[in-house]
Amino acid sequence: MNSQQDIGLKRQAEDTVDNLRSSDESDVSAKKRPSPPITPLSVFNQLYGNPKFNATAEGPPHMLEHTVSFQFSGKEFSSTAPTKKKASQDAAFQALKYVASKNVEGAETENMTLDEISKLLLSKPATEKARVAPVIPELPTDSSSPAGRLYMFDSTLTFNFASSDANDGSRYTCTVTKDGKTFTGRGASKKAAKHDVASQVLQAFYSNFPASEDSNSSDLQLGLNPTLADRISSLVEQKYSDLTKNSTIALRFQVLSGIVLERPNDAFEVITLTTGTKVISGDHLSLLGHAVNDCHAEILARRCLRQFLYMQIEEAIDNGSFSNDILRFDPIKKKFSLQEGCRLHLYINTAPCGDARIFVIQDQGSSAGNDPNPNRKSRGRLRMKIEVGMGTVFSQGRSVQTWDGIKCGERLLTMSCSDKLAACNVLGIQGALLAHFFDPIYLDGITIGTCFSLAHLQRATYGRYEPGLEPLPESYRMNEPSFSQPSRPKGRIPISKATSTSLAWTKGWDFPEYINGETGMLLDKRISKLSKAYLFGKFKSIAMKLSDHVAKKVQDADYYCDAKHLSIDYQNAKVNLEKAFAKLGLGTWIHKPEEQNLFKLGEKGPLPSESNGKSE
Ligand SMILES: [Zn+2]
Repeated sequence: MNSQQDIGLKRQAEDTVDNLRSSDESDVSAKKRPSPPITPLSVFNQLYGNPKFNATAEGPPHMLEHTVSFQFSGKEFSSTAPTKKKASQDAAFQALKYVASKNVEGAETENMTLDEISKLLLSKPATEKARVAPVIPELPTDSSSPAGRLYMFDSTLTFNFASSDANDGSRYTCTVTKDGKTFTGRGASKKAAKHDVASQVLQAFYSNFPASEDSNSSDLQLGLNPTLADRISSLVEQKYSDLTKNSTIALRFQVLSGIVLERPNDAFEVITLTTGTKVISGDHLSLLGHAVNDCHAEILARRCLRQFLYMQIEEAIDNGSFSNDILRFDPIKKKFSLQEGCRLHLYINTAPCGDARIFVIQDQGSSAGNDPNPNRKSRGRLRMKIEVGMGTVFSQGRSVQTWDGIKCGERLLTMSCSDKLAACNVLGIQGALLAHFFDPIYLDGITIGTCFSLAHLQRATYGRYEPGLEPLPESYRMNEPSFSQPSRPKGRIPISKATSTSLAWTKGWDFPEYINGETGMLLDKRISKLSKAYLFGKFKSIAMKLSDHVAKKVQDADYYCDAKHLSIDYQNAKVNLEKAFAKLGLGTWIHKPEEQNLFKLGEKGPLPSESNGKSE
């Protein structure tokens, strides 16, 4: 939005206030007009202001049942009816009866008419009427944008814009002062910054307004005893700004993710840092393992962690002791594991796409943390990201994706991040190849910035398939990570068009990689160190170095798919998990065409240099 438009909006706001004033002044003449019929809500409004409603709807589209509730005077009033309006009126009527019974001694309010109740309440002295503190107006719902809703909430606010020098993709700040408190929004455009600040103001006044946008305000600092979640999120954000300080690459990201390693001596360190919201388009799928298929930030974080683990194994082997400060080797199991007390925490600035996220966005009116409709059929389903599209779709009715189908223009489907994280809680985060060298490595904690709903997160990442799991192979289990949210979550940065470039960094790299999410290749067209081919190269060289501890056929596996399939326990656990989803009617796990895994090293094309990712 340009400044002209902003001035226009401000004038419009001032006009509205003037109109309101003049209608107040003409109150006397207004009395001559026929008065509108009284309703429970109009009586309630007159006495106590607008109730702050929570509304949900259930049932098939042609016969929805609306449930409306609100808190008043320390009690919840709730009603269900075929329309939201009817339910709101009923709930308001209940509240009026309740207040009347409390405020008027001896009043038998249950069977009273609205007329009788309102006379009773309106006859009380003004001080009695105002016994309950005025409530803030109902959260405006008539406009989809936070700025529009804020305008309806308070049309007198002034938005002040300035350019931003923060190195996080934001180019503007927008500040608003409401009731003596100043809020600051940021964004890649003035519109985005305004959108951000409006979200913050609405969040401050309406606890049920989703914190889906960046709610950073520089005037708030972390307390002296930050929670684990605060510590993790601020470390990741700090790492992002360190990595991009001198970058010339424009990175307008929406989703930021990182993995933080916690060590026994209370030391925390960021070991992966990634951004991104894109998946590869079908015509860029590689037969040589060169392309990175899924550049959603949290999925790249998983690939970066694998890079990190390969680097740690190399270091441990080079030490001669088969151990370092992060890994140790068990000569009986012939496997590595993390040193005692080392824990992994995944951070994502917003809930992962798919099952963990979709209902938090839908249930904007319901309370955070709980799922008001946990038994709906839509809960827990496998969902897929669509090539060149936003959001996710249910996997029902689809089974196999074929190479020729995709190359002939069928849209490529990729399992959602919620589903992939769900798999990590059974299979571990290390993947099939590293399962030759490690027992499964599970995440200890997941910290989510915004769109945080514990009920949805728990269901999406393990709860939904638990009843369908058969006994798992030894050393595999269903992992239940702890979930946490920072006290001042920084969410998706509201930008109109996110860049297709993802940043990816692993501890040990001098520079981050910049990957084009749509092609899966680095911006300079080289192969990413997160590609299958590159990681397979690492796998092969380590398998050779560990020849005394790794089965001969694994060392000899030339094809990527063979090395993966030889990870027997991992594959069995995977089949078990996919069956659990199918058995529970939660959909089919859709795989990419197997052709993309039928490659061996050195077939064609150069592998990336060992230059520590100097890709800028
Ligand atoms: Zn995602």
